[in-house]
Amino acid sequence: MAGNSLSPQFDVLIIGAGLAGLTTARQLLDDAKAQGVSPPSIAILEADLELGGRIRDARLSNGMKIDAGVTWLHGGAENPLLRDSIARYGTGLGPVDYDDATSRIWVTEGSRHGTDWKDVAVRELRDAYDQWKRDNPDEDIALSDLIGICMEKSGTVLTRAYGYYLATNWMGLDSMSHFSCDEYYTDPYGQGGGMLQKGMAHLVTCMVGELRKNAVFIQPGTTVKSLKNTSDGIEARDVTGKTYTASRAVVSVSTGVLKSRLIAFDNDVNDKIDPYVASITMADMLKMSVPLRPGFLEDRGIKPDTFITVLNVDPMFLCHAGTGGKPLLTIHIGGKATTAFENLPQIHLDNCARAFLDRIPAISGYRNYVDGDTHVTGWASNPFTQGAYSCILPGHKRQNPMAAGNILFAGEAFAADTVMCPSQALAAWHSGRLAGSRIFEDLKTVGKLAAQPAMMPVAGAQIKFAPSAAI
Ligand SMILES: Cc1cc2nc3c(=O)[nH]c(=O)nc-3n(C[C@H](O)[C@H](O)[C@H](O)COP(=O)(O)OP(=O)(O)OC[C@H]3O[C@@H](n4cnc5c(N)ncnc54)[C@H](O)[C@@H]3O)c2cc1C
Repeated sequence: MAGNSLSPQFDVLIIGAGLAGLTTARQLLDDAKAQGVSPPSIAILEADLELGGRIRDARLSNGMKIDAGVTWLHGGAENPLLRDSIARYGTGLGPVDYDDATSRIWVTEGSRHGTDWKDVAVRELRDAYDQWKRDNPDEDIALSDLIGICMEKSGTVLTRAYGYYLATNWMGLDSMSHFSCDEYYTDPYGQGGGMLQKGMAHLVTCMVGELRKNAVFIQPGTTVKSLKNTSDGIEARDVTGKTYTASRAVVSVSTGVLKSRLIAFDNDVNDKIDPYVASITMADMLKMSVPLRPGFLEDRGIKPDTFITVLNVDPMFLCHAGTGGKPLLTIHIGGKATTAFENLPQIHLDNCARAFLDRIPAISGYRNYVDGDTHVTGWASNPFTQGAYSCILPGHKRQNPMAAGNILFAGEAFAADTVMCPSQALAAWHSGRLAGSRIFEDLKTVGKLAAQPAMMPVAGAQIKFAPSAAI
């Protein structure tokens, strides 16, 4: 009966209910309120059954909740997203922990090192980068080349190992040649940051509640498979063949999803977006979480939020001990190696986690405290993310939300301002705000926004249905 079906019609259709998509909708409401006009009708279509995208909880077999995606809002109290969220939702977010990332243990050749050698490696790389920028102010350099410069001077095998750690465990890359030093060295925040004790998904719950209260239509379990510009707007079609029309659309899916062409666009849109997406790698990051009975970390004198980096293995990994103050060991592994672990049967997964953790002398004896199954995330194999976060290739530049006709592309990869930390939650929020304001101004220019009536919107009241033109 497709030919007779009605296609829901909105002012703005947002594809993806991750942080960028939710923020776009909220910004549209904020702008309407600030300018005293009726908010546009907004629909968010989300492929997954859960909302929040790469902000998500997971529950371990002993009942402990963990952040499967975003953990740290880097920069802590300085992070604009954290500041804005606290101002809006206050206690609704629950208590916030601040992890200063100063408790660190480095393991090489099975022994425990101080941080002196690491400070030397950090300084050598920083000095080499600063010198490079003095000599080549407009040129980026790949980390592999920067390491090469250091090795010609006084760099040691540990300088190289530290560089590889940055590429795999910070950026989620396999190769230092894909690591843009401009992007890394202009990130103002670095590691650690603010964490929501009750889980980052609390932020999503607050945002979704606010949007639904303001009549935003949010529909999970709806995978958009095509999106086209039309003469007066856009037309989207989901995998069941249902169409949705709107004046404008925001696509907030990951660059992994864009690369896979899960959503089909017209050729002129592809011509615009493809070169940009090709300049970005979708990096991988996996978390293996091992719950412990309380007491172990305290007994061993390991402070909450201690980072233990193990450099002499392949893949190199970072163990976050006492994650968010919980009795939990979280192994972070980056790069393509992640895919080998994502789909392991439980018994192999438990064995793998132990093989990693057994390399850390500081936590020997942890096996007696293990309190449940090892949990593993699956961002690389999730068809709606296809990786963890974006990394721009050396020599390329990020772009702010990109327009192609009536379609705007937003999300963590679309943040040109490195102060807003591309690839992080902060960038998703920033690009969502820009996209929302840009579309708002656009709708105003074409006369789509009416003066505010003196009444509160009612859920669903603004959804108009028009006969489907497409099927
Ligand atoms: C393991 C891991 C750890 C991380 N750690 C941190 C951290 O500590 N700090 C930090 O700041 N950032 C971190 N990040 C990065 C952060 O999660 C992302 O930058 C941010 O959440 C991205 O938000 P987004 O809205 O741009 O994209 P997404 O969250 O990916 O949202 C896009 C949404 O679109 C949906 N979608 C995809 N295809 C379709 C379709 N065809 N139709 C409809 N919907 C579709 C997806 O399901 C998803 O919900 C981490 C990411 C991972 C994976």
